[in-house]
Amino acid sequence: MDQPFLEAKPIIETLNNNGFEAYFVGGSVRDYLMGREIGDIDIATSATPDEIKKIFEKTIDVGAKHGTIIVRYHHQSYEVTTFRQDCDYKDFRRPTKVQFVTSLKEDLKRRDFTMNAIAMDQFGNIFDFFHGRADIKRKIIRTVGEAEKRFSEDALRMLRAVRFVSQLSFQLHPETKKAIQYLHTLLENISVERKTVEFEKLLKGPSVKRGIELLMETNIYQHLPGFCDQEENLQKLLNYSYSHLQTSEEYWTMITFVLRIESVESFLRAWKLPGKIVKHVRMAINRLPKLLGNGWTSLDLYQIGLNDAVKMERVRQALQREFHVQSIHHLEQMYRELPMKQRNELCINGNDLVEWFQKKPGPWISSSLAKIEERIIKGELPNEKEAIKEWLLSCNRKFDENC
Ligand code: ATP
Ligand code: MG
Repeated sequence: MDQPFLEAKPIIETLNNNGFEAYFVGGSVRDYLMGREIGDIDIATSATPDEIKKIFEKTIDVGAKHGTIIVRYHHQSYEVTTFRQDCDYKDFRRPTKVQFVTSLKEDLKRRDFTMNAIAMDQFGNIFDFFHGRADIKRKIIRTVGEAEKRFSEDALRMLRAVRFVSQLSFQLHPETKKAIQYLHTLLENISVERKTVEFEKLLKGPSVKRGIELLMETNIYQHLPGFCDQEENLQKLLNYSYSHLQTSEEYWTMITFVLRIESVESFLRAWKLPGKIVKHVRMAINRLPKLLGNGWTSLDLYQIGLNDAVKMERVRQALQREFHVQSIHHLEQMYRELPMKQRNELCINGNDLVEWFQKKPGPWISSSLAKIEERIIKGELPNEKEAIKEWLLSCNRKFDENC
């Protein structure tokens, strides 16, 4: 058994010792069987949320009414969910009522795909009622049970299917694909937040191009924010490699740029992305045309900061299809060599200007400091008080004019 399971094993043992069944389930078992790195570990148990809370010292109630409790153990979080059977699917979304059932098989049956419906006990015994292992072996994504029924219950599963294609480099089972092509419009009922989670995972997968192709082949793209009338531009996304991109900011910059989105802010807001991402992408989109034409200047680097510049550099590389680690090293070197990294390192301040020019403070101070800063960054002026004063006075003009 892999290390993450060994670390989580005492949770299963504790549940067993208290008379409850408990198993590893979902993505971690799938990834373990595939030899992939294991992500979050989920546990399914016959214990109810209240019982879980009683047994473990540190728990976080994230969704007791859906049967999920987070158990904190050795500084790790584990989602422990009571066996459940979903009923009353309304509006093609999540179930309205969750009925707790004491059956592992019933719990696995409500899971989306056969590869995600495998359980493993603390001894490493596998419980595979829906032939998930055979599908993993054949690299097939197939719904547990009838595809049309399962997608009608929760339409998000259609997008999840495609994101798994990208993430695992599997194929959709023909029935599963046909059902998506037939039912894609049900995705209109799904919240943007849930779509965004899956779409980001799709973007970050190794087979992202196949994922994007499938979004088009199945028409899912029509139900993603801002993609509806973008069929032609979406094709263009296939011309690039995404494997060097790292952060969400980079992926969204790439998408926004290649799709030639006009209103960047409203596009990103439609995906309900965090303000931090929106801010970065707007900045990057504004600066990319110049960067693609002229490359980096020390002033750009100074204004953007190294962190954001590295993110932009990876996008530049993806857009210009050149992948050299050296260019990142070069950027870091350029940054190290900047005469200063931020304005508070400037060896003069507004008071000096007021004193030298005998003028009332005003907006001229900030614009003057910016001009001085620019010359210093460009290497045209040393960051030394006397030198700056001399240069300013030699301009022999009023300071609020161009100098
Ligand atoms: P990842 O490794 O990307 O986290 P995952 O398979 O663990 O993939 P999660 O979204 O974390 O995906 O979900 C955990 C498990 O919960 C899945 O493996 C699946 O068994 C079940 N599941 C998640 N979403 C759904 C859904 N919409 N319908 C049915 N089962 C689902
Ligand atoms: Mg998971």
